[in-house]
Amino acid sequence: MSKYDIIVLGSGPGGYVAAIRASQLGFKTAVVEKESLGGICLNWGCIPTKALLKSAQVFEYLKHADAYGLSVKEYDKDFEAVVKRSRGVAEGMSNGVKFLMKKNKIDVIDGFGKLKTGKKIDVDGKEYSADHIIIATGARSRELPSLPQDGKKVIGYREAMVLPKQPKSMIVVGSGAIGVEFAYFYKSMGTDVTIVEYLPNIVPVEDIDVSKQLEKSFKKSGINIMTSAEVTSVDTSGKGVKATVKTSKGEEVLEADIILSAVGIKTNIEGIGLEDVGIAVDRDKILVNDFYQTNIPGYYAIGDVTPGQALAHVASAEAILCVEKIAGQHVQALDYGNIPGCTYCTPEIASVGLTEKQAKEQGIEIKVGKFPFSASGKASAAGNKDGFVKVIFDAKYGEWLGCHMIGAGVTDMIAEAVLGRKLETTGHEVLKTVHPHPTMSEAVMEAVAAAYDEVIHL
Ligand SMILES: Cc1cc2nc3c(=O)[nH]c(=O)nc-3n(C[C@H](O)[C@H](O)[C@H](O)COP(=O)(O)OP(=O)(O)OC[C@H]3O[C@@H](n4cnc5c(N)ncnc54)[C@H](O)[C@@H]3O)c2cc1C
Repeated sequence: MSKYDIIVLGSGPGGYVAAIRASQLGFKTAVVEKESLGGICLNWGCIPTKALLKSAQVFEYLKHADAYGLSVKEYDKDFEAVVKRSRGVAEGMSNGVKFLMKKNKIDVIDGFGKLKTGKKIDVDGKEYSADHIIIATGARSRELPSLPQDGKKVIGYREAMVLPKQPKSMIVVGSGAIGVEFAYFYKSMGTDVTIVEYLPNIVPVEDIDVSKQLEKSFKKSGINIMTSAEVTSVDTSGKGVKATVKTSKGEEVLEADIILSAVGIKTNIEGIGLEDVGIAVDRDKILVNDFYQTNIPGYYAIGDVTPGQALAHVASAEAILCVEKIAGQHVQALDYGNIPGCTYCTPEIASVGLTEKQAKEQGIEIKVGKFPFSASGKASAAGNKDGFVKVIFDAKYGEWLGCHMIGAGVTDMIAEAVLGRKLETTGHEVLKTVHPHPTMSEAVMEAVAAAYDEVIHL
């Protein structure tokens, strides 16, 4: 039997990052993977979707070239080539992880891993043991009983990324990050898209101003949006698919080529031996403490399979913390209140901390500042005037409670707010930090200035 210091089960941004950090800290490490290195993020999530969205963005530029004084006489999309490019990008990233495993002298064990008692893992009949076992098996698309996925007419995100043919029409159920990213992608490519959202607003976890702005932008681009609406049944017996949608006004039947179900995720906890080992699970998630130890000593869990935001950067941060704690380092628990969330449709969304509503609900006296990109020189020059930056500060102590952005490139801007909050900066410190001109990031400084009645360009 092969013996390791640490074995990681699953090689997503939780698993492979845990393995690399473990190797850096001198542990003899192996990672077990049943599919492709890099997990959902690199193969079926973050990266291939961003590749598709980039193609959509370039296509939008071509469509609107005249707005930039350019004349593009002939242009067209090649849906198959767009998908092929996305798969190529994903494959390249997965190969990159393969290289990193080799570079860090991490053994990659191919196959399905099942936990056993005594800190062992069975991989397709062969047994391995370790002093520490980290579970990072991730998640998959959640299926609703009213919306069973057949992979053809009712699909999840994996199929949506590799459709052999572009559908003429699509219903997207759910308007979280995954739903709106695909809605934008398919609409840009020329598919008729309808979003059906159960809650009263799209991107419902965002600040209400952001939700409203996205709804406005999406409607302008021709995406049909139904909120406070629920798909109660689907009929796939005909050529396309019919969805019965319940709204406050009654029932309506929508027809489309395809339904994309984007209603959240389901963790991969089945068949991996959790019950045999006695690892506690609650509401589909493996229970862990602040340092990712499960209730059974020597077994840890990180990433989507645990509570906390199901995001790649969260999985990676948990991975590093978990391994450093195993190594006996003095580590601080992760602050789940300071995790940035990003959505990469056009316009992009990025946010961190409390929304205005949440701050008010907590009874905090706040100062709110907002700066629209329509007043930004860089946004005007780039032809990207939609959106804004909104900041929320504690009125008494100046603590930066929340930052909410919607507009071009904001996913690259949010780190300023995350760092500022981590360093417990105050509004006045941000205000007195010189931002480069002309940049979209000036809007952060101006939004803060607006909160303190010192805004210059409004
Ligand atoms: C369409 C889409 C877009 C996304 N976009 C973003 C984004 O832009 N930004 C962001 O932060 N997050 C994004 N996410 C979420 C992100 O992909 C996940 O949060 C992240 O991948 C979780 O990492 P993980 O390591 O916990 O698990 P995963 O990435 O799910 O990896 C788990 C791995 O474990 C393997 N595995 C499972 N069980 C076993 C077993 N028994 N034996 C061996 N191997 C096993 C799986 O094959 C998989 O490779 C997106 C997700 C989707 C679906």
